[in-house]
Amino acid sequence: MKTPFITKEKAEEIIKQYPTPFHIYDEKGIRQRARDLYKAFSWNKGFKEYFAVKATPNPFILKILKEEGCGVDCSSLTELMMSDCCGFSGSDIMFSSNVTPKADFLKARELGAYINLDDFTHIDYLDDLCGIPETICCRFNPGGHFEIETQIMDNPGEAKYGFTREQLFEGFKVLQQKGAKHFGLHAFLASNTVSNAYYPKLARILFELAVELHEKTGADIKFVNLSGGVGIAYEPDKPQNDIFAIGEGVRKAFEDIMVPAGLGDVAIFTELGRYMLAPFGHLVATCTHHKHTYKEYVGLDACACNLMRPAMYGSYHHITVLGKENAPCDHKYDVTGGLCENNDKFAIDRMLPEIDTGDIIVIHDTGAHGFSMGYNYNGKLRSAEILLHEDGSFDMIRRAETPADYFATFDFTDIFDKYTKNNK
Ligand SMILES: *Cc1c(COP(=O)(O)O)cnc(C)c1O
Repeated sequence: MKTPFITKEKAEEIIKQYPTPFHIYDEKGIRQRARDLYKAFSWNKGFKEYFAVKATPNPFILKILKEEGCGVDCSSLTELMMSDCCGFSGSDIMFSSNVTPKADFLKARELGAYINLDDFTHIDYLDDLCGIPETICCRFNPGGHFEIETQIMDNPGEAKYGFTREQLFEGFKVLQQKGAKHFGLHAFLASNTVSNAYYPKLARILFELAVELHEKTGADIKFVNLSGGVGIAYEPDKPQNDIFAIGEGVRKAFEDIMVPAGLGDVAIFTELGRYMLAPFGHLVATCTHHKHTYKEYVGLDACACNLMRPAMYGSYHHITVLGKENAPCDHKYDVTGGLCENNDKFAIDRMLPEIDTGDIIVIHDTGAHGFSMGYNYNGKLRSAEILLHEDGSFDMIRRAETPADYFATFDFTDIFDKYTKNNK
């Protein structure tokens, strides 16, 4: 079962002020999630979650997570700037990027962030640019397939990220020669896993490597960064990850491998995005059209520009018609947006209650990689983002784009003055 965190009445109240479509976030759920994560890893003294900013790059969301003790994981200049403006600095920031522009490394260095190098060649690139910091992290890619009990979870051998094993040993030596004193080790080997075994398995790989790196190069290992990849079940009938079982699995690996090697003080870091935010966001839209041809279509005022995952990956997102939660799902619909792209479908052949024009539609689990993957194709404008507080009050935390925003990059010419003057 997936139940929306807003009722029809609450949605109608919000829509009076902020018309659909919009993304709405549940502050209560976000805070509880962060608290559970910290509790699950409380056995590790230095544990810290660095929220992957790219999942939900909104300063109001980042501030909530900051209050819950989280740092941020950034991958670009503007994410670093946003984090800076939200009060994150130094060891609150992890900079995990790839194919990194110079300006991004310089900003990361200026903010004193932990820098996570994606590639061996980045060592000289960073050194020439601004020197190697005392603490530096490297990203590992073991190649091949990542399996849990013979089930292939993902394909690191095809992934562009990370150092090979040999590059890592050589890299640690070079970095030490260049002045690095403390090291982090990072890997992201499978995306959106719904398995309590992913982090523990990854942890074993990284812990064994950390011990070997420590013994062979003498490097002081300061942290192991398990990165993202702990996912959520988007389907309503699938079991969800159990963060306490996951934390316990990682603890077991830590005590088996790190503690006997004298590395019991090493901190565990995570860079979760999806797990932290996805369930606590909804895309709220209104049904505006019906169409009956070879199939039955319902058209919404939202489109793939507001939520790209179904179009891009064929992802399932659960849909609730507000006020019809208990009505029988006896109508088969394709739920579409208005892009001139036939993949602009939030659902295909989905069994839903009969939908009327004007019905409010909740698309679930859009809190991560939802708004942030939005785009402007067909001249569609990005929606507002709303934050629902614990007491039921709500605030706009990003306004919807206007045509003036769409034309803003033509501000060097007066062609669009008619539509951009006064931000109309
Ligand atoms: C995308 C990303 C994350 C977050 O991934 P989720 O699947 O949202 O948890 C963490 N770290 C890095 C380096 C990433 O690129």
